[in-house]
Amino acid sequence: MTLTGHSLIAGEAVAGTEGRAFGINPSTNEQLEPAYGLVSTEQLRAATAAAADAFKPFSSLEPVRHARFLETIADNIEAIGDELIERASAETGLGAERLRGERARTTGQLRLFADVVRRGDFRGVRIDPALPDRTPLPRADIRLRQIPLGPVAVFGASNFPLAFSVAGGDTASAFAAGCPVIVKAHNAHPGTSELVGQAISRAVRDLELHPGVFSLVYGAGTSIGQELVADPAIKAVGFTGSRAGGTALMRTAAARPEPIPVYAEMSSINPVYVLPGAVRGDADALARQYVASVTGSSGQLCTSPGLLFVPAGEDGDRLADAVARALTGQAGQTMLTEGIASAWQQGFRSVESAAEVELLARGQAGTTANAPAPAIFSSNLDVFTGNRVLHEEIFGAASLIVRYKNVEDLAEATDLLEGQLTASVQATEEDYASAAALIPVLERKVGRIIINGWPTGVEVGHAMVHGGPYPATSAPSTTSVGTLAIHRFLRPVSYQNFPQELLPAPLQDANPWQVNRLVDGEAEIQPR
Ligand code: NAP
Repeated sequence: MTLTGHSLIAGEAVAGTEGRAFGINPSTNEQLEPAYGLVSTEQLRAATAAAADAFKPFSSLEPVRHARFLETIADNIEAIGDELIERASAETGLGAERLRGERARTTGQLRLFADVVRRGDFRGVRIDPALPDRTPLPRADIRLRQIPLGPVAVFGASNFPLAFSVAGGDTASAFAAGCPVIVKAHNAHPGTSELVGQAISRAVRDLELHPGVFSLVYGAGTSIGQELVADPAIKAVGFTGSRAGGTALMRTAAARPEPIPVYAEMSSINPVYVLPGAVRGDADALARQYVASVTGSSGQLCTSPGLLFVPAGEDGDRLADAVARALTGQAGQTMLTEGIASAWQQGFRSVESAAEVELLARGQAGTTANAPAPAIFSSNLDVFTGNRVLHEEIFGAASLIVRYKNVEDLAEATDLLEGQLTASVQATEEDYASAAALIPVLERKVGRIIINGWPTGVEVGHAMVHGGPYPATSAPSTTSVGTLAIHRFLRPVSYQNFPQELLPAPLQDANPWQVNRLVDGEAEIQPR
């Protein structure tokens, strides 16, 4: 497939007129061809106007065609073959194996959302039939369904160039809800974005949908990204990235004449609690698992464990020694961009210079560019609770072990943490009482609690929450991974006293789309 360096605006390849930018290979810091033209305000407006036009036909698409669209995107992504993996690897420094797994996750979640569309449960249909004889007042016939919000702006993430980018979870869930999507390409992987963008554009053409259903634009976040979110045609935003970027978009969205929701996934240090019974177990195995979770994908995962609470005393010392041994042999891997590697160095220095924090262990620097040696620090609970710098995310392979004296103190320390995506508890049966006391505190702080596991590796399914209170996300009532993510882009509408002829299909008595419904409070399940 030929990379053009163009944006894709409503099915057309458009050469941006506001300067250009190149992908960079972070392993070598070399520039990658072609140059990507950055769009002007007028070019952006063409994309948002087309998305607004596409909304009506796309939002009322019948389920079979709608689901087929998502499946066709998945098929088209697979059809790109190794070229996609090679370009993504060159632009991000991520290995081919990791990227193949990510591609499978991307196509898997598109197909999962196709199933969601076919089943139709997301439409949330409820029917309260009329009660004309009710006294003292009759009840009108009232029917509810969820409808899509309108065009959605998506900001791809640097650390998941496939699964959280152009055709990632935000786009898949917005499309499944019936919302056109405009993606602001992440400048760290422009070629990967174009390849996937072409796959989506082809699916739009194959299914003969309105071309405004999808656009992909190149430009700086601070200019074109901001303009996109301020555009009146846009009705919601999906974002994964830094707290600074996410909160800047939240401010813009809130200041619009019509404020809109921003679903931003930002920063999290994902505490792991090793309880006293667990620390007496196999220290080497625990240490290996922890180090693998810290260093996997160069630590550039939103669920990377930045914090490990370990009991003070001999058993905890044994675990700390095992961690030091496990980390020493680890080589640094190329980080996504030079900027992200230098932000990691800055974070490393600020923790290294913090009072009463020890550098417990370091791995080796990698042989490529931007591959700092992973690091694990150590301190104690009093120091941790007294120094907010130690609560900040260092995006990359770094973590802090915090030694505690009493398990009772963990709840208090947890209360001081910011909102998190995850918390993990390592516990044996003898720890269950302590774990039970900790869990209600964790529920208030995080979106997912894990027992005897590690936070990295997020399953895409129906029961997954990849969310949590601020600053893990901007919207704690939802998730950016899993099928529940579709609800971010929907809102309920009630239809009162409607004749059958005027009712939308899923609300009609005949139920032509065969969706499950709640009728007078009772579930009405369709045979499958
Ligand atoms: P980023 O700087 O927040 O960029 C993400 C996207 O938002 C990019 O498209 C960027 O545009 C845009 N953007 C940034 N600032 C903006 C602003 N003020 N207004 C509008 N748009 C804006 O994130 P990143 O480049 O992926 O990584 C930088 C840092 O983000 C990392 O060091 C890490 O701390 C954090 N991060 C966290 C996660 C997580 O899952 N928690 C994931 C990735 C990154 P440009 O293309 O112009 O930059």
